[in-house]
Amino acid sequence: MNKSAIRATAPHDHTHCQSEALSRAESLCEERGVRLTPIRRKVLELIWNSHRPVGAYAILDHLREGDRGAAPPTVYRALDFLLENGLIHKLESLNAFIGCDHPEDRHVSQFLICTKCGAAVEIQDPAIANAVKKSAGSAGFTVGRLTIELQGLCPNCSKA
Ligand SMILES: [Zn+2]
Ligand SMILES: [Zn+2]
Ligand SMILES: [Zn+2]
Repeated sequence: MNKSAIRATAPHDHTHCQSEALSRAESLCEERGVRLTPIRRKVLELIWNSHRPVGAYAILDHLREGDRGAAPPTVYRALDFLLENGLIHKLESLNAFIGCDHPEDRHVSQFLICTKCGAAVEIQDPAIANAVKKSAGSAGFTVGRLTIELQGLCPNCSKA
């Protein structure tokens, strides 16, 4: 079984995941010479509040509670920045965002979404991507964006 799947869906010390993700983002941005501004950092922190994908509206609501300066365009720009830098991924089927725990390298991933607890787990299986591309290719289709999101029960919820 996939290790990160177990970690994300089993009870664990999540503050550790969150603080690690933030410090990784800081050093990555420094390395790349891009700025992790306070709003970008805040949005990333909110997304990392859990392993459940979070939508833009929920992020806006959170930010409104705190400082009134967070206008929607600012948040959307922050989300764009985080997506561009691979710090988060967008789950198309939920129109929501999730933190990536290995933003150092560009990668194509698949997502397992638990319909019970809402956790989403990122997996990377090149065999899946290749099989899809091959099928599409034999239908004369050139794949641009490849989004694979599976819904079901995580190990923790299927145990219960
Ligand atoms: Zn965690
Ligand atoms: Zn990722
Ligand atoms: Zn679950």
